[in-house]
Amino acid sequence: MIADALGRSLRNLRLSVTDRCNLRCEYCMPEDEYQWLPREDLLHFEEISSLVDIFVSQGVDRVRLTGGEPLLRRDLPKLMAMLSAKHGLNDLALTTNGILLADQIDALASAGLRRITISLDTLRADRFKALTRSDELARVHEGMQAATRVFPSRFKIDTVVIKGVNDDELSDLIEYGKAVGAEVRFIEYMDVGGATRWSPERVLSRNDMLALLSERYGTIAPIVEDSSAPADRYQLGDGTTFGIISSTTQPFCSSCDRSRLTADGMWYLCLYATQGVDLRAALRGGVSADQIASMIRGGWTARDDRGAEQRLALGDRRAFVPVKALKKDPHLEMHTRGG
Ligand code: SF4
Repeated sequence: MIADALGRSLRNLRLSVTDRCNLRCEYCMPEDEYQWLPREDLLHFEEISSLVDIFVSQGVDRVRLTGGEPLLRRDLPKLMAMLSAKHGLNDLALTTNGILLADQIDALASAGLRRITISLDTLRADRFKALTRSDELARVHEGMQAATRVFPSRFKIDTVVIKGVNDDELSDLIEYGKAVGAEVRFIEYMDVGGATRWSPERVLSRNDMLALLSERYGTIAPIVEDSSAPADRYQLGDGTTFGIISSTTQPFCSSCDRSRLTADGMWYLCLYATQGVDLRAALRGGVSADQIASMIRGGWTARDDRGAEQRLALGDRRAFVPVKALKKDPHLEMHTRGG
């Protein structure tokens, strides 16, 4: 196991398979126009598979497929099958907005998908439309039903909470999670690249979320567990559990073992990193697997990133990357990095 400069192991890899998305969520893709990664730069499945082999040889044992929206990548079950056959990979998960899930979930599960997280920020059709600029809430519900069937009581719902937008739906979402057999995780609105409408006033903190939920549910007990997972988990009186990811007000950089590979093979050591390592160029330039392994080792051992903690330490905090800079480099966008 390799440790970085702050003693954190290299374990989790978030693997973006496309920068495209079929939603335009306000906290991620609020602009009208986007600069996309050139098609020819996207890694082929064989290239992704080779890189994953190298990452696994360096200690990665958990991979999560992300996007953009990963189900937009053609033949995704084929990649899933290639990855699930790898020894040393203990966890293979997927994050999706759920729109295309009902059609693909059986093929993905047969190919080895073990865990799934579905993003859903509101249960109200009008709000969904305003928040995502899409009318597909019914298809997301179909995706949830499919997940209930294929991963009973084993999937998660991720909700980004924005003050004044969906902060009145926390308990409705918990009840929805109970009904479909999913654990809900509330995520504080983050000022990452792409969140051009972010402001501190729009963040509902973990403490505020807990206060709101206590009004409805009474005592909420924290669950004590030893985990590097980003969510702190809680339990309601009836045994229902939920999580809160407080990346903005109480970051967890000190235990962060995650890095991100974009669909075009740039490796980022932090969600806030402005520079990445170009593994596509190395792979296509004929650099050997051993040498790429050494690039990964060198990058990780030098890693001292703790972006969210540094953002928190700033006094006056605004959107992290200005729109102009995002238009010049799509790699700075959260939808390219896989969130
Ligand atoms: S800000 Fe960077 S170091 Fe901190 S938890 Fe997020 S990815 Fe990890």
